[in-house]
Amino acid sequence: PSAEVTAEIDSFMQGLEKRNPGEVEFHQAVREVTESLMPFVLENPKYKDAQILERLTEPDRIIIFRVTWEDDAGNIRANRAWRVQFNNSIGPYKGGLRFHPSVTQSVLKFLGFEQIFKNSLTGLPMGGAKGGSNFNPKGKSDREVMRFCQSLMIELHRHIGEDTDIPAGDIGVGGREISYLFGQYKRLANKFVGTLTGKGLSFGGSLVRTEATGYGCVYFCENMFQRIGDSIDGKTVAISGSGNVAIYAAEKATELGGRVVTLSDSGGFIHDPDGIDAEKLAFVKDLKEVRRGRISDYVDKYPKATFHSDARPWSVPAQVALPCATQNELDLSEAKTLLKNGVMAVAEGANMPTELDAAYAFREAGILFGPAKAANAGGVAVSGLEQSQNALRLSWSREEVDTKLKTIMKEIHEKCVKYGSDGKQVDYIDGANLAGFVKIAEAMLAYGAV
Ligand code: GLU
Repeated sequence: PSAEVTAEIDSFMQGLEKRNPGEVEFHQAVREVTESLMPFVLENPKYKDAQILERLTEPDRIIIFRVTWEDDAGNIRANRAWRVQFNNSIGPYKGGLRFHPSVTQSVLKFLGFEQIFKNSLTGLPMGGAKGGSNFNPKGKSDREVMRFCQSLMIELHRHIGEDTDIPAGDIGVGGREISYLFGQYKRLANKFVGTLTGKGLSFGGSLVRTEATGYGCVYFCENMFQRIGDSIDGKTVAISGSGNVAIYAAEKATELGGRVVTLSDSGGFIHDPDGIDAEKLAFVKDLKEVRRGRISDYVDKYPKATFHSDARPWSVPAQVALPCATQNELDLSEAKTLLKNGVMAVAEGANMPTELDAAYAFREAGILFGPAKAANAGGVAVSGLEQSQNALRLSWSREEVDTKLKTIMKEIHEKCVKYGSDGKQVDYIDGANLAGFVKIAEAMLAYGAV
């Protein structure tokens, strides 16, 4: 970037950091987007004149509240919860809820900010939001989780609605939690409408929603490969995480001919050089989704695999890396190791899993790098399709939803190419940021000063 652009970025970031002290994750997400957008904003004075970047980085509102609940021993417990309603320029607020002890306002602001661009990229009418709590579901009984969800909804229900804000799941919020939340919402709102997505199939959920983020990430990765005349077929794939995103990314990568050799959780990673095939993945699904166990149990069942405690899978040689666990789980030295071992494509299944300097290292090396807001948009895209089905009072078949998901991921890829191509190479980071931005910025300009 030119000296002028760099100076503008620095002064913008200084202001943002001053207005939002200590919110390091939020600063990081805004920096990545600003570094892509600033040259474009300076070339198009209408955006600068209307202060679009300043307005886009300030949430419409943040609701902060206490959630009081009773544990199984009869103790009264309290947690903090948030809903960050970031921007509703192109549709009602939409984004997940995260339950994890690491949740802070900064984390939810970074996630809500990313969600604005991601939702815009899907082409569906969805604004950006995120919420959650520092509640730790790990080790809690079903009834404790139920009481927590019910208590949280007592406050949250007055701020959400099928045309205002539609929460969904994220880390720590899966089918069980959405069911408890929806049951309570339905009761408090006294209506049956699709105000949450990720619902069970018997009460308005969509087929393929569970699989959508993982499948979509692999579809996006395959689209990147196809553009350069290659494919996932025959490639070794390293995946982090063992939640819903990682599991279904592994399933789809295997279906497309990849050999998935790693999965992980907060305790470490497993390496199975023979590949985690469909049968082994069924074991992992049951282990993580039903028994809520640890990934280390995998090696008891499949002794040819190894478990590496307190480590991440990026030292394992692979041509494809899919970080599907959490933010900042792949740093610069790990990026260098992956590059040294011949990685050809990285697609982010999690939100902001790659640290900024690591992402730029992939970009400089000229490998395929699919940033989260493009690569993991499949989840929220199928949430959007769930809303459509709810509004129409019907449900589409598995094939119909999967075909729509594939089309949306292909179109997101095309948008990234359109906005990120210099004629030879595609910069997917810039492409995703610019394509996501233009739609929102045009709406904000059209509204005037609101
Ligand atoms: N939490 C998911 C995401 O990061 C899905 C959000 C949704 O379905 O609303 O995009």
